[in-house]
Amino acid sequence: MIVTDDLGILQREAWAAGTLPPVEQIRPGLWSIPVPMPRNPLRYVLVYAFAIDDGLALIDVGMDTEESWNALVDGIADTGHHISDVRYAAITHLHPDHFGLAPRLRETTGAAIAMHAAEAVALGHQTPADVDADVEAWRVDLVGLGAPPEVVEAERFALVRFAPGESADVVLNHGTTLDLPGWNLEAVWTPGHTPGHLAFLDRDHDLLFSGDHMLPRISPNISSGPDELPDPLHRYLLSLHATTRLPDCEVLPAHEYRFRGAGERARQLMAHHDARLTEIRDTVEARPESTAWEITVAVTWSRPIDTLSPRLQRLAVRETQAHLIVLADRGEIRSDSGIPARWSLTRTDTKEK
Ligand SMILES: [Zn+2]
Ligand SMILES: [Zn+2]
Repeated sequence: MIVTDDLGILQREAWAAGTLPPVEQIRPGLWSIPVPMPRNPLRYVLVYAFAIDDGLALIDVGMDTEESWNALVDGIADTGHHISDVRYAAITHLHPDHFGLAPRLRETTGAAIAMHAAEAVALGHQTPADVDADVEAWRVDLVGLGAPPEVVEAERFALVRFAPGESADVVLNHGTTLDLPGWNLEAVWTPGHTPGHLAFLDRDHDLLFSGDHMLPRISPNISSGPDELPDPLHRYLLSLHATTRLPDCEVLPAHEYRFRGAGERARQLMAHHDARLTEIRDTVEARPESTAWEITVAVTWSRPIDTLSPRLQRLAVRETQAHLIVLADRGEIRSDSGIPARWSLTRTDTKEK
């Protein structure tokens, strides 16, 4: 293990080199533990471990694979603790790379699992009947976006995320202070990436644990969909704006590497979405009566859209739709009521005299 107070240089170098960063002590009694994400380009999730009176508390736990579990157990051993010392795990959001190992952790150690109320509701929504209803809701949604059949079908594989019967032990809301002696961790509701995404702010130690709300290099996926907020991008932009008003802490994200300048990064992400909104509005203007899918194919992506897997294409069309919803809420574009819906600029004809 490495004891360091640098600004994430080792994590940054590991990211660039394509390797796993070391377990690091970031502050006395606070460690970052990289937990691998097999077959995922993000490669690892950063789990944060805090020494508390009677053991350890974690922020996020990693993906539910054997390799991830072993890395978590070994990483905790590196901090001088044992996995059985874990008493508490606060989950930033319900994505499998953050929550996945939580049931196994609770079963092994008795740790209490804490999350935002909105994520707790989604976690309870996993009976077979719920999943059947979700499959149909997703199909209807994607057909409405004009997605081709292989993209519509790709959704089925991602729906069953957790075993039925899982539940949260502690429900957190915006402003809740976590019951972790020695730390002053406050839950900051940052909806957008998911409805109940939480960041955690420790004003005493000048730290913001940002989860997937803010990463140093990439912009997190903001998607429309039946299990998302009706206006996810609008909510995300509000969350970013609220982040600019927090103390300008060191940011400890869930992926990539930690960095300084929470406010600056939030403004960069807002500017990114602004540019994207302009590009999508211009595409609607150039190609009136387009579906969300046709607009998705027409705009630029970091890789050509036809080289992406159907699952990533599905994320892309949902991200486009999130932008279309913002433009529609601003009154700039409108859709017809067809299936699929077709988008055009809002008419601004001047009245006849
Ligand atoms: Zn996520
Ligand atoms: Zn993530």
